[in-house]
Amino acid sequence: MSSDPIYVTRPHLPELADVLPLLEQIWDSGLLTNNGPLLQRFESALSDYLGVAHISLVANATLGTTLAMEQAGITSGEVITTPFSFVATSHSIKRAGATPVFADIDPVTLNLDPASVVKQITPDTKAILAVHTFGRPCDVEGLKDVADSHGLKLLYDAAHAFGVRKDGRSILSYGDMSVLSFHATKVFNTFEGGAVISPDRETKEGVDRLTNFGFADTDSVEAIGLNAKMSEFNAAIGLAQLCKIDEVLAARARVAERYMRYLGDVPGLRCASPTGESGHNHYAFPILVGPDYPIDRDTLCERLEQHNIFARKYFYPLISDMAPYAQLPSAAPKSLPIARKVAAEVLCLPLYPDLDEATQDRIIAQVLAK
Ligand SMILES: *Cc1c(COP(=O)(O)O)cnc(C)c1O
Repeated sequence: MSSDPIYVTRPHLPELADVLPLLEQIWDSGLLTNNGPLLQRFESALSDYLGVAHISLVANATLGTTLAMEQAGITSGEVITTPFSFVATSHSIKRAGATPVFADIDPVTLNLDPASVVKQITPDTKAILAVHTFGRPCDVEGLKDVADSHGLKLLYDAAHAFGVRKDGRSILSYGDMSVLSFHATKVFNTFEGGAVISPDRETKEGVDRLTNFGFADTDSVEAIGLNAKMSEFNAAIGLAQLCKIDEVLAARARVAERYMRYLGDVPGLRCASPTGESGHNHYAFPILVGPDYPIDRDTLCERLEQHNIFARKYFYPLISDMAPYAQLPSAAPKSLPIARKVAAEVLCLPLYPDLDEATQDRIIAQVLAK
Protein backbone atom coordinates (compact mmCIF):
# COMPACT_ATOMS: atom_id res chain seq x y z
CA MET A 1 0.00 0.00 0.00
CA SER A 2 1.56 3.23 -1.11
CA SER A 3 -0.62 5.91 0.48
CA ASP A 4 0.50 7.70 3.64
CA PRO A 5 -1.16 6.74 6.91
CA ILE A 6 -4.10 8.90 7.92
CA TYR A 7 -4.47 9.38 11.66
CA VAL A 8 -7.59 10.38 13.54
CA THR A 9 -6.12 13.80 14.21
CA ARG A 10 -3.10 15.86 13.33
CA PRO A 11 -1.97 18.41 15.90
CA HIS A 12 -2.31 21.93 14.57
CA LEU A 13 0.91 23.95 14.75
CA PRO A 14 0.92 27.75 14.92
CA GLU A 15 2.73 29.77 12.26
CA LEU A 16 6.41 29.98 13.22
CA ALA A 17 6.31 33.65 12.21
CA ASP A 18 3.69 34.22 14.91
CA VAL A 19 5.70 32.31 17.54
CA LEU A 20 9.22 33.65 17.03
CA PRO A 21 8.64 37.26 18.17
CA LEU A 22 7.06 35.91 21.33
CA LEU A 23 10.01 33.62 21.97
CA GLU A 24 12.32 36.60 21.56
CA GLN A 25 10.38 38.35 24.29
CA ILE A 26 10.98 35.37 26.59
CA TRP A 27 14.70 35.39 25.79
CA ASP A 28 14.86 39.16 26.35
CA SER A 29 12.99 39.15 29.63
CA GLY A 30 14.50 35.99 31.06
CA LEU A 31 11.08 35.25 32.57
CA LEU A 32 10.29 31.61 31.88
CA THR A 33 7.34 30.80 34.14
CA ASN A 34 5.49 31.85 37.36
CA ASN A 35 2.74 34.13 36.07
CA GLY A 36 5.00 35.78 33.49
CA PRO A 37 4.02 38.53 31.05
CA LEU A 38 3.02 36.19 28.20
CA LEU A 39 0.89 34.09 30.50
CA GLN A 40 -0.93 37.21 31.65
CA ARG A 41 -1.44 38.32 28.05
CA PHE A 42 -2.66 34.89 27.03
CA GLU A 43 -5.06 34.74 29.95
CA SER A 44 -6.67 38.03 29.03
CA ALA A 45 -6.73 37.28 25.28
CA LEU A 46 -8.43 33.95 25.96
CA SER A 47 -10.85 35.55 28.31
CA ASP A 48 -11.88 37.97 25.54
CA TYR A 49 -12.03 35.26 22.88
CA LEU A 50 -14.02 32.78 24.93
CA GLY A 51 -16.24 35.31 26.66
CA VAL A 52 -15.54 34.19 30.22
CA ALA A 53 -14.01 36.51 32.81
CA HIS A 54 -12.05 34.33 35.22
CA ILE A 55 -9.50 31.99 33.67
CA SER A 56 -6.55 30.25 35.32
CA LEU A 57 -4.03 28.77 32.90
CA VAL A 58 -2.63 25.42 33.97
CA ALA A 59 -0.09 22.83 32.84
CA ASN A 60 -2.78 20.40 31.64
CA ALA A 61 -6.45 19.59 32.13
CA THR A 62 -5.88 16.57 34.36
CA LEU A 63 -4.18 18.73 37.00
CA GLY A 64 -6.65 21.53 36.29
CA THR A 65 -9.66 19.31 37.01
CA THR A 66 -8.03 17.85 40.11
CA LEU A 67 -7.41 21.35 41.45
CA ALA A 68 -10.86 22.61 40.44
CA MET A 69 -12.35 19.75 42.48
CA GLU A 70 -10.17 20.69 45.45
CA GLN A 71 -11.04 24.37 45.11
CA ALA A 72 -14.74 23.41 45.09
CA GLY A 73 -14.18 21.40 48.29
CA ILE A 74 -14.71 18.00 46.67
CA THR A 75 -11.98 16.05 48.46
CA SER A 76 -14.07 13.16 49.80
CA GLY A 77 -17.40 11.45 49.19
CA GLU A 78 -18.84 10.55 45.80
CA VAL A 79 -18.85 12.35 42.46
CA ILE A 80 -21.27 11.25 39.77
CA THR A 81 -19.64 11.16 36.36
CA THR A 82 -19.76 9.63 32.90
CA PRO A 83 -18.00 6.37 31.99
CA PHE A 84 -17.93 7.50 28.34
CA SER A 85 -14.92 9.80 28.46
CA PHE A 86 -11.15 9.85 28.52
CA VAL A 87 -9.84 8.17 31.66
CA ALA A 88 -8.47 11.45 33.07
CA THR A 89 -12.02 12.48 34.00
CA SER A 90 -12.24 9.78 36.68
CA HIS A 91 -8.56 10.02 37.61
CA SER A 92 -9.09 13.68 38.55
CA ILE A 93 -11.94 12.72 40.90
CA LYS A 94 -9.76 10.09 42.59
CA ARG A 95 -6.70 12.35 42.73
CA ALA A 96 -8.80 15.01 44.47
CA GLY A 97 -9.79 12.42 47.10
CA ALA A 98 -13.33 11.49 46.06
CA THR A 99 -14.81 8.36 44.47
CA PRO A 100 -16.33 8.31 41.00
CA VAL A 101 -19.84 6.92 40.64
CA PHE A 102 -20.88 6.18 37.07
CA ALA A 103 -24.23 7.17 35.62
CA ASP A 104 -25.50 6.41 32.14
CA ILE A 105 -25.45 8.66 29.09
CA ASP A 106 -28.02 10.02 26.69
CA PRO A 107 -28.11 8.03 23.42
CA VAL A 108 -28.27 11.17 21.24
CA THR A 109 -25.86 13.61 22.88
CA LEU A 110 -23.62 10.89 24.39
CA ASN A 111 -23.45 13.09 27.51
CA LEU A 112 -24.49 12.34 31.12
CA ASP A 113 -28.24 11.76 31.37
CA PRO A 114 -29.68 13.82 34.27
CA ALA A 115 -32.32 11.14 34.96
CA SER A 116 -29.60 8.52 35.39
CA VAL A 117 -27.59 10.91 37.59
CA VAL A 118 -30.56 11.25 39.98
CA LYS A 119 -30.67 7.48 40.47
CA GLN A 120 -27.06 7.44 41.70
CA ILE A 121 -27.43 10.13 44.35
CA THR A 122 -26.71 8.99 47.93
CA PRO A 123 -26.06 10.90 51.19
CA ASP A 124 -22.35 10.79 50.24
CA THR A 125 -22.78 12.49 46.85
CA LYS A 126 -20.90 15.77 46.72
CA ALA A 127 -20.79 16.75 43.07
CA ILE A 128 -21.42 15.96 39.42
CA LEU A 129 -18.50 16.00 36.99
CA ALA A 130 -19.99 16.01 33.49
CA VAL A 131 -18.18 16.07 30.13
CA HIS A 132 -19.22 18.00 27.01
CA THR A 133 -18.29 14.93 24.99
CA PHE A 134 -16.88 15.67 21.52
CA GLY A 135 -17.72 19.33 22.14
CA ARG A 136 -21.46 18.75 22.24
CA PRO A 137 -23.06 20.68 25.12
CA CYS A 138 -24.45 18.67 28.02
CA ASP A 139 -28.06 19.14 29.12
CA VAL A 140 -26.81 22.02 31.26
CA GLU A 141 -30.28 22.96 32.49
CA GLY A 142 -31.22 19.39 33.41
CA LEU A 143 -27.95 18.86 35.26
CA LYS A 144 -28.29 22.21 37.05
CA ASP A 145 -31.77 21.26 38.25
CA VAL A 146 -30.44 17.99 39.66
CA ALA A 147 -27.44 19.68 41.28
CA ASP A 148 -29.48 22.52 42.77
CA SER A 149 -32.25 20.34 44.14
CA HIS A 150 -29.74 18.03 45.89
CA GLY A 151 -27.20 20.64 46.99
CA LEU A 152 -24.44 19.30 44.73
CA LYS A 153 -21.60 21.10 42.99
CA LEU A 154 -21.65 20.87 39.21
CA LEU A 155 -18.32 20.84 37.39
CA TYR A 156 -17.60 20.34 33.71
CA ASP A 157 -14.69 18.57 32.08
CA ALA A 158 -14.71 20.85 29.02
CA ALA A 159 -11.56 19.33 27.49
CA HIS A 160 -13.39 19.05 24.15
CA ALA A 161 -15.38 22.26 24.34
CA PHE A 162 -13.03 25.07 23.30
CA GLY A 163 -15.07 27.85 21.69
CA VAL A 164 -18.41 26.04 22.05
CA ARG A 165 -21.41 28.30 22.59
CA LYS A 166 -24.98 27.59 23.58
CA ASP A 167 -27.72 30.15 23.06
CA GLY A 168 -25.01 32.71 22.24
CA ARG A 169 -23.24 32.13 25.54
CA SER A 170 -19.96 30.31 26.22
CA ILE A 171 -20.58 26.76 27.35
CA LEU A 172 -17.81 27.39 29.88
CA SER A 173 -20.04 29.79 31.81
CA TYR A 174 -22.39 27.00 32.92
CA GLY A 175 -21.97 25.09 36.18
CA ASP A 176 -19.67 25.96 39.06
CA MET A 177 -16.38 25.49 37.19
CA SER A 178 -15.17 24.18 33.83
CA VAL A 179 -11.80 22.90 32.65
CA LEU A 180 -10.38 23.11 29.11
CA SER A 181 -7.52 21.02 27.76
CA PHE A 182 -4.94 22.48 25.38
CA HIS A 183 -3.24 19.14 24.73
CA ALA A 184 -1.74 18.66 21.26
CA THR A 185 -4.72 16.59 20.09
CA LYS A 186 -7.41 19.09 21.04
CA VAL A 187 -9.12 21.71 18.86
CA PHE A 188 -6.90 24.43 20.36
CA ASN A 189 -3.48 23.44 21.68
CA THR A 190 -0.47 24.87 23.49
CA PHE A 191 1.38 21.52 23.03
CA GLU A 192 0.42 20.77 26.66
CA GLY A 193 -1.82 23.02 28.71
CA GLY A 194 -5.26 23.76 29.99
CA ALA A 195 -7.44 26.30 31.74
CA VAL A 196 -9.79 26.36 34.70
CA ILE A 197 -12.79 28.67 34.36
CA SER A 198 -14.08 30.06 37.64
CA PRO A 199 -17.31 31.93 38.38
CA ASP A 200 -15.65 34.82 40.25
CA ARG A 201 -12.29 36.39 41.03
CA GLU A 202 -12.00 34.86 44.49
CA THR A 203 -12.40 31.34 43.11
CA LYS A 204 -9.89 32.07 40.34
CA GLU A 205 -7.36 33.26 42.90
CA GLY A 206 -7.93 30.07 44.89
CA VAL A 207 -7.19 28.00 41.78
CA ASP A 208 -4.12 30.12 41.01
CA ARG A 209 -2.79 29.47 44.52
CA LEU A 210 -3.33 25.73 44.17
CA THR A 211 -1.44 25.68 40.86
CA ASN A 212 1.53 27.31 42.60
CA PHE A 213 2.14 25.04 45.63
CA GLY A 214 -0.53 26.88 47.66
CA PHE A 215 1.47 30.12 47.95
CA ALA A 216 -0.74 33.08 48.89
CA ASP A 217 2.26 35.42 48.74
CA THR A 218 6.02 34.98 49.00
CA ASP A 219 5.92 34.17 52.72
CA SER A 220 2.72 32.28 53.24
CA VAL A 221 1.43 28.95 52.04
CA GLU A 222 -2.27 28.44 52.61
CA ALA A 223 -3.02 25.11 50.98
CA ILE A 224 -1.37 21.87 49.90
CA GLY A 225 -1.05 22.95 46.31
CA LEU A 226 0.64 21.37 43.36
CA ASN A 227 2.88 22.62 40.64
CA ALA A 228 0.38 22.98 37.80
CA LYS A 229 1.71 26.20 36.31
CA MET A 230 1.78 26.92 32.60
CA SER A 231 5.19 28.09 31.35
CA GLU A 232 5.88 31.16 29.22
CA PHE A 233 6.75 28.88 26.30
CA ASN A 234 3.30 27.28 26.30
CA ALA A 235 1.67 30.69 26.71
CA ALA A 236 3.60 31.91 23.64
CA ILE A 237 2.31 28.95 21.63
CA GLY A 238 -1.20 29.73 22.85
CA LEU A 239 -1.02 33.39 21.83
CA ALA A 240 0.22 32.37 18.38
CA GLN A 241 -2.49 29.70 18.00
CA LEU A 242 -5.16 32.19 18.94
CA CYS A 243 -4.26 34.31 15.87
CA LYS A 244 -5.55 31.53 13.58
CA ILE A 245 -8.21 29.79 15.66
CA ASP A 246 -11.18 31.04 13.63
CA GLU A 247 -9.65 29.61 10.45
CA VAL A 248 -8.98 26.32 12.23
CA LEU A 249 -12.58 26.10 13.43
CA ALA A 250 -13.92 26.96 9.97
CA ALA A 251 -11.74 24.29 8.35
CA ARG A 252 -12.93 21.68 10.86
CA ALA A 253 -16.53 22.63 10.10
CA ARG A 254 -15.92 22.14 6.36
CA VAL A 255 -14.51 18.65 6.88
CA ALA A 256 -17.36 17.66 9.23
CA GLU A 257 -20.02 19.01 6.88
CA ARG A 258 -18.52 17.03 4.02
CA TYR A 259 -18.62 13.82 6.07
CA MET A 260 -22.21 14.61 6.91
CA ARG A 261 -23.07 15.04 3.23
CA TYR A 262 -21.76 11.58 2.32
CA LEU A 263 -22.44 9.64 5.51
CA GLY A 264 -25.45 11.43 7.02
CA ASP A 265 -28.13 9.21 5.46
CA VAL A 266 -26.46 5.80 5.33
CA PRO A 267 -28.74 3.09 6.77
CA GLY A 268 -27.25 1.57 9.91
CA LEU A 269 -24.78 4.43 10.49
CA ARG A 270 -25.50 7.31 12.79
CA CYS A 271 -23.42 10.48 12.71
CA ALA A 272 -23.39 11.60 16.35
CA SER A 273 -21.92 15.06 15.85
CA PRO A 274 -24.28 18.07 15.77
CA THR A 275 -22.67 19.20 12.51
CA GLY A 276 -24.26 22.35 11.17
CA GLU A 277 -25.38 23.52 14.60
CA SER A 278 -24.06 27.00 15.34
CA GLY A 279 -21.62 27.32 18.21
CA HIS A 280 -20.21 23.82 17.69
CA ASN A 281 -16.44 23.28 17.35
CA HIS A 282 -16.35 19.97 15.40
CA TYR A 283 -14.04 18.40 17.92
CA ALA A 284 -14.52 14.98 16.31
CA PHE A 285 -16.65 13.09 13.84
CA PRO A 286 -18.04 10.10 15.75
CA ILE A 287 -20.13 7.57 13.83
CA LEU A 288 -22.16 4.83 15.52
CA VAL A 289 -22.05 1.57 13.56
CA GLY A 290 -25.42 0.00 14.38
CA PRO A 291 -26.72 -3.57 13.99
CA ASP A 292 -28.29 -2.66 10.63
CA TYR A 293 -24.93 -1.84 9.08
CA PRO A 294 -23.50 -4.71 6.97
CA ILE A 295 -20.40 -4.99 9.19
CA ASP A 296 -19.77 -4.24 12.85
CA ARG A 297 -17.62 -1.45 14.27
CA ASP A 298 -14.52 -3.57 14.85
CA THR A 299 -14.63 -4.99 11.33
CA LEU A 300 -15.03 -1.51 9.87
CA CYS A 301 -12.13 -0.26 11.99
CA GLU A 302 -9.93 -3.13 10.76
CA ARG A 303 -10.91 -2.52 7.15
CA LEU A 304 -9.91 1.13 7.48
CA GLU A 305 -6.60 0.09 9.05
CA GLN A 306 -5.92 -2.21 6.11
CA HIS A 307 -6.15 0.93 3.99
CA ASN A 308 -3.83 2.86 6.29
CA ILE A 309 -6.65 4.86 7.86
CA PHE A 310 -6.44 4.96 11.65
CA ALA A 311 -9.87 5.84 12.99
CA ARG A 312 -10.19 5.52 16.80
CA LYS A 313 -12.75 3.84 19.05
CA TYR A 314 -13.29 6.83 21.36
CA PHE A 315 -14.41 6.02 24.03
CA TYR A 316 -13.89 2.30 24.17
CA PRO A 317 -13.40 0.72 26.61
CA LEU A 318 -15.56 2.64 29.06
CA ILE A 319 -13.71 4.09 32.05
CA SER A 320 -15.90 1.85 34.20
CA ASP A 321 -14.31 -1.18 32.53
CA MET A 322 -10.73 -0.07 33.20
CA ALA A 323 -8.79 -1.82 35.96
CA PRO A 324 -8.79 0.99 38.57
CA TYR A 325 -12.57 1.42 38.35
CA ALA A 326 -14.05 -1.92 37.29
CA GLN A 327 -14.65 -3.05 40.91
CA LEU A 328 -16.87 -0.07 41.78
CA PRO A 329 -20.53 -1.00 42.33
CA SER A 330 -21.63 1.57 39.73
CA ALA A 331 -19.37 -0.14 37.14
CA ALA A 332 -21.34 -3.40 37.30
CA PRO A 333 -21.80 -4.99 33.84
CA LYS A 334 -25.61 -4.78 33.99
CA SER A 335 -25.66 -1.04 34.59
CA LEU A 336 -24.84 1.66 32.05
CA PRO A 337 -26.63 -0.07 29.11
CA ILE A 338 -26.55 2.96 26.81
CA ALA A 339 -22.90 3.77 27.46
CA ARG A 340 -22.06 0.12 26.78
CA LYS A 341 -23.94 0.09 23.49
CA VAL A 342 -22.38 3.37 22.33
CA ALA A 343 -18.87 2.22 23.31
CA ALA A 344 -19.37 -0.91 21.19
CA GLU A 345 -20.58 1.05 18.16
CA VAL A 346 -18.57 4.28 18.15
CA LEU A 347 -15.77 5.10 15.75
CA CYS A 348 -14.22 8.55 15.37
CA LEU A 349 -13.19 9.29 11.79
CA PRO A 350 -10.09 11.37 10.98
CA LEU A 351 -10.83 15.07 11.38
CA TYR A 352 -8.30 17.88 11.35
CA PRO A 353 -8.18 21.29 9.68
CA ASP A 354 -5.92 20.39 6.74
CA LEU A 355 -7.59 17.08 5.87
CA ASP A 356 -7.91 17.56 2.11
CA GLU A 357 -10.87 16.40 0.03
CA ALA A 358 -8.99 13.65 -1.82
CA THR A 359 -7.87 12.10 1.47
CA GLN A 360 -11.33 12.46 2.93
CA ASP A 361 -12.76 10.76 -0.17
CA ARG A 362 -10.49 7.76 0.49
CA ILE A 363 -11.87 7.52 4.04
CA ILE A 364 -15.49 7.89 2.95
CA ALA A 365 -15.04 5.27 0.20
CA GLN A 366 -13.79 2.72 2.73
CA VAL A 367 -16.59 3.44 5.19
CA LEU A 368 -19.11 2.88 2.39
CA ALA A 369 -17.38 -0.08 0.67
CA LYS A 370 -19.62 -3.12 0.38
C1 LIG B 1 -7.74 15.16 26.78
C2 LIG B 1 -8.74 14.98 27.85
C3 LIG B 1 -8.44 15.19 29.20
C4 LIG B 1 -7.04 15.41 29.69
O1 LIG B 1 -6.46 16.56 29.21
P1 LIG B 1 -4.90 16.84 29.45
O2 LIG B 1 -4.76 18.30 29.14
O3 LIG B 1 -4.17 15.97 28.47
O4 LIG B 1 -4.59 16.50 30.86
C5 LIG B 1 -9.45 15.14 30.13
N1 LIG B 1 -10.72 14.85 29.76
C6 LIG B 1 -11.06 14.60 28.48
C7 LIG B 1 -12.48 14.32 28.15
C8 LIG B 1 -10.07 14.64 27.48
O5 LIG B 1 -10.39 14.35 26.21
